[in-house]
Amino acid sequence: MSMELKILRLDDRVIELRTKGFPLPLLNLIRRYALAKVPSIAVDEVVVIVNTSILFDEVLAHRLAMVPLRSEEAIQRFKAMGIDPEICEKCSSASEEEKPPEDVCKKCFIYMRLEAEALDRELTVYSGDIVSDDKDVEPVYKNIPIVVLAPGQKILLELRARPGRGLEHAKWSPATVAVVRYLVDFQLIEDLCTHCGKCAEVCPRGLIEIVNGVPRVKNPDECIACKQCVMNCPTKAIEIVPRQDEYVLMIESSGVMRPSTIVRESLEILLKELDQISQKVSKWVSEKRVGEAR
Ligand code: SF4
Ligand code: SF4
Repeated sequence: MSMELKILRLDDRVIELRTKGFPLPLLNLIRRYALAKVPSIAVDEVVVIVNTSILFDEVLAHRLAMVPLRSEEAIQRFKAMGIDPEICEKCSSASEEEKPPEDVCKKCFIYMRLEAEALDRELTVYSGDIVSDDKDVEPVYKNIPIVVLAPGQKILLELRARPGRGLEHAKWSPATVAVVRYLVDFQLIEDLCTHCGKCAEVCPRGLIEIVNGVPRVKNPDECIACKQCVMNCPTKAIEIVPRQDEYVLMIESSGVMRPSTIVRESLEILLKELDQISQKVSKWVSEKRVGEAR
């Protein structure tokens, strides 16, 4: 079967690819690698110097860890420096034996500060108040509330951010949504249809229109196969039939990098891993041949 790929949507936040002839397991791998293996940067350590706010230190640290940080340029820079996020994971390891040498960890940590004090009125501290030492790594959204300080309360925090992967913690996952959906056909058994129009009323995507009393789907590619039309049709006149080998891969970025970068990085990691398998198999085959020749 021939393979076809069409971009249905591509902007700063979402990529949607319509595929034909690509195996579902391959698309699922790209999706899963986007969530779990493509690295990004997130706050991993918070040194609390002053915290007289209502929030416990741990809650503050957790809120800061979940702030999406722009990672696109920094991840490419780290890649060029040969920094492997799998090693970075060990920098925060509890076990001293597992930790890489300190100079390795120093290379990947990015330092930031958050300082705020409410004087005579309440003050909301936002993600935009975080000051980063690295101009490439800053909060994507400046308006995420971190804490509300009452008059007289203060925070002074040092933050350390580092590359990581969703496999370790969701805060490093660059994708907020990564799904593969089936493409389907809306099939009407005309003899059974009583032209009541119920299916058009219930379609959550507003895809069904009634033309001369007959229901018709405007854009079948946008059907999410929820089957509301099927379930609400009083005469069972509708069937939703999956198309063979036609899917839509959709990835939504948290904003830390472009969605097209997430797909590219996901494929790069996948190809690297496949190459490692191929090399191991070749080595094993040549060793076996040498053994047999002796
Ligand atoms: S709900 Fe069923 S019977 Fe009513 S218009 Fe739709 S297909 Fe026809
Ligand atoms: S399956 Fe859902 S989205 Fe698709 S046409 Fe029916 S009601 Fe609309």
